[in-house]
Amino acid sequence: MPGLSDQVQFVRGVGPRLAEMLALKGIATAEDLLYHLPFRYEDRQNPRPLDELQPGETVSVIAEVRGSALLRTRRAPLFELTLGQGRRALKCIWFHAPYLNGKFQAGQSVAVYGKVEPSRSSSNLKMIQPQFEILPDATADAETRLLEVGRITPVYESLGGSRLASRWQRRVIFNLLDSVRGSVPECLPRALLTRLDLPDRETALRAVHFPPEGTPLAQLQSFATPAHRRLIFEEFFFLELGLEIKRRRMKERAGIAFAATDKVREAIREVLPFHPTTAQKRALGEIVADMRAPSPMRRLLQGDVGSGKTIVALEAMIVAMENGYQAALMAPTEILATQHYLAARKLLEKSSRKPRIVLLTGSLDDDRKRLNRGLINRGQAQLVIGTHALIEEKVEFDRLGLVVVDEQHRFGVLQRFKLMKKPGPDGTLGAEPDVLVMTATPIPRTLALSLYGDLDLSILDELPPGRTPIVTRRVPDARAHEVWEFVRKQVVLGRQAYVVYPVIEGAKDDQPELDFSHDPDVAPSSLPPSGRKGGKRTETPELFPNSRREANPQAKSGLKSAVEMHEKLRTGPFAGLRVGLLHGRLDADEKEIVMRRFQRGEIDVLVSTTVIEVGVDVPNASVMVVEHAERFGLAQLHQLRGRVGRSAAKSYCILLTGERVSPLAEERLDAMVRTQDGFELAELDLTLRGPGEIFGTRQAGLPEFRVASLVRDRQLLELAKQEAARFVAEPAGEATEAERARVRSHLKDAWQRRYGLVEAG
Ligand code: ADP
Ligand code: MG
Repeated sequence: MPGLSDQVQFVRGVGPRLAEMLALKGIATAEDLLYHLPFRYEDRQNPRPLDELQPGETVSVIAEVRGSALLRTRRAPLFELTLGQGRRALKCIWFHAPYLNGKFQAGQSVAVYGKVEPSRSSSNLKMIQPQFEILPDATADAETRLLEVGRITPVYESLGGSRLASRWQRRVIFNLLDSVRGSVPECLPRALLTRLDLPDRETALRAVHFPPEGTPLAQLQSFATPAHRRLIFEEFFFLELGLEIKRRRMKERAGIAFAATDKVREAIREVLPFHPTTAQKRALGEIVADMRAPSPMRRLLQGDVGSGKTIVALEAMIVAMENGYQAALMAPTEILATQHYLAARKLLEKSSRKPRIVLLTGSLDDDRKRLNRGLINRGQAQLVIGTHALIEEKVEFDRLGLVVVDEQHRFGVLQRFKLMKKPGPDGTLGAEPDVLVMTATPIPRTLALSLYGDLDLSILDELPPGRTPIVTRRVPDARAHEVWEFVRKQVVLGRQAYVVYPVIEGAKDDQPELDFSHDPDVAPSSLPPSGRKGGKRTETPELFPNSRREANPQAKSGLKSAVEMHEKLRTGPFAGLRVGLLHGRLDADEKEIVMRRFQRGEIDVLVSTTVIEVGVDVPNASVMVVEHAERFGLAQLHQLRGRVGRSAAKSYCILLTGERVSPLAEERLDAMVRTQDGFELAELDLTLRGPGEIFGTRQAGLPEFRVASLVRDRQLLELAKQEAARFVAEPAGEATEAERARVRSHLKDAWQRRYGLVEAG
């Protein structure tokens, strides 16, 4: 009897050659094949008659081939297929498709799927580039006919050329389902399925591939049938279960139970520069409670830009130091590490204890690095601030108690840090340090759950008092001179400004700062100017009224760069002002000098790249100008805007855009003008780009799902998380011992194969 864990080559109809092709798609077992779901369905049971079609609908149609032709037009070869039904006809058109020539014979039955468009020539309709399938005729074998016509037909993404296209998959999966009938092991407890009203695994697999008659098509297309929901739930459940178990295991490990005495509280109070917000108090309370517990803290501190995460982290570090432990703060960039270092020094100057703080970044000279490592190793430095890599790889601590990781959405579930500790006198490593992760970007709750599901969560959902909303405007390039004038005026009023460029200098591939690959809609040359019109901007009428959509006759196709524009602005519009330049290619000393001068108000306008994107904190800066704003991602724009509005002074964010703005970029810019809520923007970003794009699935350690989608299936993720927690919390709950054993073994397989970890079990 074949089983789901059999290698796919032994599945009937596959064999070694095709198995190799399938392996390229990550399909190694029979089970993998069954979890390769159709991406859509065609109703070939009740296809839509041609005379009912309305322009604008997306439909599937079955009709007969009347004729076809390859037309050589001036622009591109164009293949035209005419389908007919009674007296009605439908024209289907494909561009650049000479390969279709000769493929269709008059009288054949063809299924097409696409959007119905009105046709100029007659009352007939047309479809442009529809998907199509030539249906088997009466001479085909019964099985093929059974799978292709007269039913709701699954349509699959090809697993390798036309050989492994839909038709092949239907047949192989149909046979596979047949051969495993009655023997697909259930991996979830029965009682759980009953309570959630979800079908069993085998029923679900059968129904997603070959939906029973009468399944609503709309429900199928949106992956919302009970069968789909069951498989999505299953996938999330095992992810969350693994995370929950990790979380629990952590609680069983030996950590440090810090004391939070009055003395510690006093030490915090004496350095605090302001009254904490309610959210900051709550978060610190949660953190301190974790630190006092004897198990290691694993907590995520989330908050929108400017919500004051840094100070909360510093408070936690004071708790550790007051208890005689070392604390480390890891930042994603040198600039940030340096800034944290300067901020910590300034803050702790007021402390009666005067801890020694050392900085560890890649560009320190070797002697200095060695010296600092020695201080850390001997326990003579209490607070260590540096970049991730350096602290992770090179440092041995004497008595490390707390690690704060300020991350730029880099790590996720699957990667966590390894910090080296000096073995104690008995050779053991002893208690584990507490870890607090801060995210610089607000993350939609669902993503936070799956990325950081093994962490406890504290949220800063409040900004410090006295902030006025940032005025955000979109201005076309052609009016840049007005923007420069505005910046000058602000400088005269005593304010400072940033002007940000996407590249350091010259050619695009020359710049490490901004990765365009995350932004698939920005295709350099092929974009039509956006057709969207209008949009009144009335919030502050005095600033750039009617500033949208003005063509710039002189617009060049090239990108402006920080280096080039620094020179132009310094000698042109900003002549007489103090203009600084900051980018990733300066060495660390230069960066630090520029940052310090800007912080001290000795630079009026800082021309920069996105090195200032995250975390940079200069409250007197009140204007952020972003050139080529259409090229930046939403999260990035939000981070950049977060550099201003850090004091009570009125702040401005001006998004200068070039001529060509893609529809997706329009959406981003609109959203930036519309809202300042980081969580709202993050949600939108997630919908526009998908989690993989935002986080770069692999590097971020974001799990890859085969059925589920973080965007589409958020509610099921929440449900799965609850259920996973309940499953772990109630050992004698609703599952039998045998079911628990099956859940455990399935979990182990899933994590081993999917997430590359062997931890769960
Ligand atoms: P985040 O890292 O969350 O983006 P920061 O920690 O950089 O935010 O804080 C933003 C700014 O707000 C900083 O200038 C900080 O000194 C200030 N700040 C933080 N907490 C408060 C507070 N409770 N009251 C007033 N200002 C605060
Ligand atoms: Mg910060």
